[in-house]
Amino acid sequence: MKNWNTLEADVDLIMNKHYTAGRGGRRLDKVIIHHNAGNLSIRGCWDVWQTRQASAHYQVQSDGKIGQLVWDRDTAWHAGNWNANTTSIGIEHADVSSSPWKVSEACLDNGAHLVAAICRYYKLGRPAWGKNVFGHKNFSATECPASLAESQHKAYMARAQYWYDHMTGTTPAKPTPTPKPAPSVPPNIDALADAVIRGEYGNGEERKRRLGANYTAVQRRVNEKLAGKKPAAKPSGPNIDALADAVIRGEYGNGEERKRRLGNLYDQVQKRVNQKLGY
Ligand SMILES: [Zn+2]
Repeated sequence: MKNWNTLEADVDLIMNKHYTAGRGGRRLDKVIIHHNAGNLSIRGCWDVWQTRQASAHYQVQSDGKIGQLVWDRDTAWHAGNWNANTTSIGIEHADVSSSPWKVSEACLDNGAHLVAAICRYYKLGRPAWGKNVFGHKNFSATECPASLAESQHKAYMARAQYWYDHMTGTTPAKPTPTPKPAPSVPPNIDALADAVIRGEYGNGEERKRRLGANYTAVQRRVNEKLAGKKPAAKPSGPNIDALADAVIRGEYGNGEERKRRLGNLYDQVQKRVNQKLGY
């Protein structure tokens, strides 16, 4: 594109027929994606549409170059559906291979960038499939847009959203980090106590929060160490066996409640429960 912000294409090669002037008073609310079923140039599309009653607003070539063939204000004949035609902009994408159908990286990136630029320019919102971006197949019985609705669909929409965020200066929310699974090895209370003494777990509420279910045991060990006591003969970790007995007695409920109440000891205790019950 010469200018993504003003939707100025690299080449204007406007059709002399096979489109309808204006939009019949309808409001533009979507972009419809197509593939060429061939590796056509901008001129190649123009030629095909001379003899076929069809057109689209833009063609994206395999080298990424974009041509405008019908002005945005006019209705192109691309969706096989009059209602869809009057309310959309149609973008064609050249296929770089046909078995399987595939578009080039440059075509994918520039096509997605054009989707983003159109969504921004016409205030259609962030590109979202089924909301403001559709495939030809959503309106007619066709496989079009082939790979852009299949193997290359995710990449295409991700690029469209990337470019939209880039162009509108918004940063998407960071994905929520996946919580770490509870440790499956018994916590080393002695090592945790040393870390606490080194200051790695802060104080007061912060230390409680970060040590979670181990807090009491670790704090006891810290106090012992600071008092110069020898380590207890037995490791002072939580008593898994006693907790398992309590679970079997029903004192920790079931399912999610049991998980919540046992916290990061859940896996160990549940394993011991299963052993005791002979599972
Ligand atoms: Zn199509």
